[in-house]
Amino acid sequence: MTGRTEFDSIVLGLGGIGSATAYWLSRRAGQRVLGLERYELGHVRGESQDHSRIIRLSYHAPEYVRLAKRAYRSWSDVEADSGERLMLKTGGLDLGPRGGAIDLRTYADSMRACDVSFEELDAAEIRRRWPVWQIDDDVHGLFQSDGGIAMAARANAAHQRMAREHGATLKETAGITAIRASGDEFDVEAGGVHYRCGKLAIAAGPWSNGALGHFGLHLPLEVTKEQVTYFAPPDLAPFAPERFPVWIWMDDPCFYGFPVFGEAGPKVAQDAGGKPVDPDTRDFQPDPENAARVRAFLDRAMPSALGPPILTKTCLYTLTPDRDFVVDRVPGFPGAAVAIGAGHAFKFASVLGRIVAELLVDGQSESDLTLFSFDRPILKQHDPPRSYMV
Ligand SMILES: Cc1cc2nc3c(=O)[nH]c(=O)nc-3n(C[C@H](O)[C@H](O)[C@H](O)COP(=O)(O)OP(=O)(O)OC[C@H]3O[C@@H](n4cnc5c(N)ncnc54)[C@H](O)[C@@H]3O)c2cc1C
Repeated sequence: MTGRTEFDSIVLGLGGIGSATAYWLSRRAGQRVLGLERYELGHVRGESQDHSRIIRLSYHAPEYVRLAKRAYRSWSDVEADSGERLMLKTGGLDLGPRGGAIDLRTYADSMRACDVSFEELDAAEIRRRWPVWQIDDDVHGLFQSDGGIAMAARANAAHQRMAREHGATLKETAGITAIRASGDEFDVEAGGVHYRCGKLAIAAGPWSNGALGHFGLHLPLEVTKEQVTYFAPPDLAPFAPERFPVWIWMDDPCFYGFPVFGEAGPKVAQDAGGKPVDPDTRDFQPDPENAARVRAFLDRAMPSALGPPILTKTCLYTLTPDRDFVVDRVPGFPGAAVAIGAGHAFKFASVLGRIVAELLVDGQSESDLTLFSFDRPILKQHDPPRSYMV
């Protein structure tokens, strides 16, 4: 335990993105980095736990495809540094009805623009490759072989372990209760201790507005309670990760799923199917209506994945109205930067931490952050239109 209270950089929040930020900062500034987490490391009240998150190059806009390419490189760097495997490639299948709510052509066009190879599959070919799909002939899909699993809990622990190995101090049960800017520095209070730093990274997930409130700022975020369910089908073999890809059903409602990984059955969920909650008072009870929608979808499209539920876990999304991230300097405070993930950021957690470190240490990032600007017009609206289907 260090007794020092002066640091170059402090990271607020050690979930997925904050742990990565502490890690990438520690590679630059070692012992001069402090990470502060309100709960215990690895807690399940936020957004970043569980065994798995989908990682993919397939995205609706070239900006995300380019960022995803850098995300894979960043995860590989962390794998090399930590000696741990953090990604599992299973291939990724995006599929849905032609003319559905999410247009697969934007995904295909974005991948083409970024030289990402993929296959276009019709319903017959999808059924031939993965006979568990019972889909109508109007369904089509895109298969991208780099898609797979980012091992969420393991990756967070690896970022934290390696940040400490590079010299950073990480403190749990040390919630930040006050931030005061004074000159070029910040006074930060956590657990009754006052710290000073020149650079401050905010990675507070569902509590982002609480943290931004210390700067007199507020964003129109919606925090929702989401859930995932692991099922125990009678035959697990078709869902083995060597045979079965991660998948996203591109329609409204949008569903997604994983091969067997971490628990003894495939995992399935609805994207953005949860209700708004307060992250401080939310409960951990699954929503039966959400569960019924997932079951009904599987009953129709993949009945052989159904079996008794092994467990359902709840988890929070922090949604911006346009579902784009916020990754930027805090307006008016060039020494502070913020990253908010909009419910699809785990695959980018490591690279977003790297980018926040770049913003704070170099003053700029090599990634294009235009889409993620804090100042974009929709974030200035008090009650903006919200569209979570992208
Ligand atoms: C069910 C579910 C499925 C998902 N699936 C995918 C997927 O397949 N692919 C994908 O890429 N993404 C996915 N996501 C989204 C992704 O997991 C999140 O975008 C990402 O984990 C966000 O990480 P975060 O660090 O911003 O938030 P969090 O992990 O919540 O971290 C924020 C941390 O800040 C701490 N904190 C807050 N305030 C303070 C304070 N004042 N002082 C100290 N600490 C504080 C909190 O305690 C918390 O630990 C999914 C999310 C959920 C919930």
